[in-house]
Amino acid sequence: MKQFKTESKRLLDMMANSIYTNTDIFLRELISNASDALDKRHIMSLTDTSIIESDPAIRIDVDKKNRIITISDNGVGMNKQELEDNLGTIAKSGSFDFKKDLDKKEEADIIGQFGVGFYSAFMVAGSVEVLSKKVNEDKAYLWSSNMEGYDIKASNKDDYGTVITLHVKKNTKEKKYDQYLDGSELRSLVKKYSDFIRYPIQMMAETYKPADNEGKTEKVEELQTINSMTPIWKKNKKDITEEDYNNFYMQEYFDYQKPLKKIHYKVEGNTSYTALLYIPSQRPFNYYTSDYKLGLKLYSRGVFIKDEAEEIVSDYFRFVRGVVDSDDISLNISREILQQDYQMKNLKKSVDKKIKSALENMLEKQRDDYEKFFDSFGQQLKYGCYDQFGANKDVLIDLIMFKSSKEDKYVTLKEYVSNMKEDQKDIYYASGESVEVIKQLPQMEKVMDKGYEVLYFTDNVDEFLTSIIREYNEKPFKSILSGDLDLDTKEEKEELEKKQEASKDFIEKIKEVLKDKVNDVKLSTRLKSHPVCLASDDSFSIEMEKVLKQLNQDNVKANRILEINPDHELYTAMKKEFDEGNDISEYADLLYDQALLIAGLPIEDPVSYAKRISDLMIKAMH
Ligand code: ADP
Repeated sequence: MKQFKTESKRLLDMMANSIYTNTDIFLRELISNASDALDKRHIMSLTDTSIIESDPAIRIDVDKKNRIITISDNGVGMNKQELEDNLGTIAKSGSFDFKKDLDKKEEADIIGQFGVGFYSAFMVAGSVEVLSKKVNEDKAYLWSSNMEGYDIKASNKDDYGTVITLHVKKNTKEKKYDQYLDGSELRSLVKKYSDFIRYPIQMMAETYKPADNEGKTEKVEELQTINSMTPIWKKNKKDITEEDYNNFYMQEYFDYQKPLKKIHYKVEGNTSYTALLYIPSQRPFNYYTSDYKLGLKLYSRGVFIKDEAEEIVSDYFRFVRGVVDSDDISLNISREILQQDYQMKNLKKSVDKKIKSALENMLEKQRDDYEKFFDSFGQQLKYGCYDQFGANKDVLIDLIMFKSSKEDKYVTLKEYVSNMKEDQKDIYYASGESVEVIKQLPQMEKVMDKGYEVLYFTDNVDEFLTSIIREYNEKPFKSILSGDLDLDTKEEKEELEKKQEASKDFIEKIKEVLKDKVNDVKLSTRLKSHPVCLASDDSFSIEMEKVLKQLNQDNVKANRILEINPDHELYTAMKKEFDEGNDISEYADLLYDQALLIAGLPIEDPVSYAKRISDLMIKAMH
């Protein structure tokens, strides 16, 4: 008996102890090898007329009693030397030893995602035989191994090709190997992992056939093809109807609604692949939870590799579902895994790019659809922009929209900026729970009067997003609720200064009353018909404070600035009261409570507030 090369031995050990990994994939691996062998025979037959193809097929047989599974193909086959070279040692390139200290998890990842080819047979079989006859050669050979080492002997086989015999392990506590001796189980594995292999994968199955003309039936064994062979994404676009596309999506993703958009394309080049991607028309109910599963599947030449293939799409496009089928991703780690990494990165870049341009296209040409999409997944794009301190903002910023005061419709930032008034320096926004709430804000009136467009920030992420990206097209974002808007003319400014001068003591008094509650009190020209509002400075807003409070982070507080409208009657009346030497403390408190209410913040002592209001009402009615 010959010994395996060291790295093969190590891989075999991995296989034997693979109870933590998905052992199902052994079948996929062996079928994929068989399919490759059929490919090779086909390709040889194209140039060598002496080589003939004979109904290429892969066949699986199960002998439950003797615990045997065989996988046969009539592909190219292997001669003695090839059996020795290919199966005696893994990885002629020796790339498996690039990483000697894989931990259990990494092992599981390698086996699960990329497969390890032929050796995965040892995940379910204690011993394996490979009987093979190379095309146009006379002799057949039998390779056999019980994992300790291997033998190669001359043998007999009628036709060209390979038969792999697995002696299935007995059940253990951790693993039930018996399942693989069940025909229907194997059939469903073929369906799941190898449905789209181009050659028929056949198994014997029992069916009932009419036995006579009187309706009697009899049980017969018959060879059935299990796989459907052509995946929809590999078909010619013109042979696929809209209904085919929709059905495939709805079946695959259990969605009862048609997808909003499909993206079917093929890329040739460094990393060649075909992709069929879908944008759902509604957001899955668990989308923003950890239960949501990424809907991208990775195939390699029609062979299923993995679900939830997060390595081929950026997280901000995680709503996309579908299939990516690459010609270049190896199922086998015997090819450079580093190269695979590089391939994966390329693939991801390319997939991201395609999704982006499909969305841009939709935004430009199917605005209604895009807005529908944005209602479902817009938040995701905003998070993508905000995430990692805005690392991906350039990719995503033009896909983002906000509702605006102009027509209460969505606008992109590009559209906003192109609509800006000549003298407008900033992009104005206002945050609040809903469009309705924002419209009622006292600060809105004046800005609207001056004819400026205001973006409605109703998502929690909005303000945080602008605090990260700061500007668009060199136009800074500015909240109309905080900081100085600088909307006034020179005359208006001088006017305000005069008033400020004249009401110095009055303001000081209010500051003193509210000293524990607000950071500053000032007169402002921000307001029109409302007497007060609460503002914050530019860096951190009251809305952001609210959001963080929801997340149980109440250690950061916005600076509160009470702004009083000097053109309001209430100001005039209160100032008169003060100038006449009366105490205005109660009124100052009420003013502050009103400002809190308008800002959507809780008032500190509602009972006392109600009492003070009642007192005032009684006074007024006397
Ligand atoms: P990989 O397929 O990635 O090269 P494997 O370990 O699965 O790695 O197989 C090693 C080699 O053995 C293959 O490259 C192929 O040359 C040969 N081989 C495996 N299975 C078959 C088969 N059914 N028919 C012909 N050759 C095979």
